[in-house]
Amino acid sequence: MSALSELFESLATRTWNDIGDADRLGFAMGETSITDFHMRDLFRAKLRGIRIRQAKGLDEARFGFDWEWWLGARDSWIRYSVQAKKLSQGTGKYDSLRQPVGKGPGAPQQIDVLDSFAQSQNSIPLYCFYNHLKNHVTARDGWNCHCEFDLTQLGCTLAPLHEVRVQHKAGETKTFTALHYKKSAIPWRCLFKCWGLPWPSLGPGGPFYPFDYVVRPRRLPQFLTPEATENEGELPAGGYHAIELPSQYYDSQLGGYPKRIAVFDFEQMEF
Ligand SMILES: [Zn+2]
Repeated sequence: MSALSELFESLATRTWNDIGDADRLGFAMGETSITDFHMRDLFRAKLRGIRIRQAKGLDEARFGFDWEWWLGARDSWIRYSVQAKKLSQGTGKYDSLRQPVGKGPGAPQQIDVLDSFAQSQNSIPLYCFYNHLKNHVTARDGWNCHCEFDLTQLGCTLAPLHEVRVQHKAGETKTFTALHYKKSAIPWRCLFKCWGLPWPSLGPGGPFYPFDYVVRPRRLPQFLTPEATENEGELPAGGYHAIELPSQYYDSQLGGYPKRIAVFDFEQMEF
């Protein structure tokens, strides 16, 4: 198993335990805090090939979604646009699944901002769910990985936006089961371990093209290459390599953009 899938497995286990322990202690961990901890730990892991960036100087209320991930090697990259949602321990539902971006009656829903961005930029829109479940029968019902059942790997799961849309509608059930009964809702480590088609340029045993998308190879934008950043691996004052987002890569009809960017450069990793 690669160090990358191990890292994602450890983040999922921690998320599962953190949400459960916070609930037992009487407070709720927000999805933003959890995502920030993930960014910190991706940075801390100091794995070759992981590069993280933070969008600079943008109005927080206008951010469309949480993360952008670039996965790939050489001239073959996939871009994911990712929105995180936490399972509320109080209600057992994803309470903030329906959420407007901005204020006022005309404010678009987050899911539409994400969808619009993905269409404009030809990225793959995903939901990332942060979970803890008291009922382990429910957990087994939501296990869509080909590998042996592993409870805490459900701490962080992914589902493609088009599958989430049905449950997103007002009045639809927003429980873990409702969002995980489709086979395409998987633990996030599966991206790097066990799900989909092998990455063509890296051969068997490598990471996977998930979610049944036919992926057209694309280049990594210059501003995300190692050459674009001096002192790779050093955390400068003020954040995770805070950068201005080049407009040609962050233009969309509804004006959303990611707050954080993570690059996973497989060429620099061992599988
Ligand atoms: Zn899997």
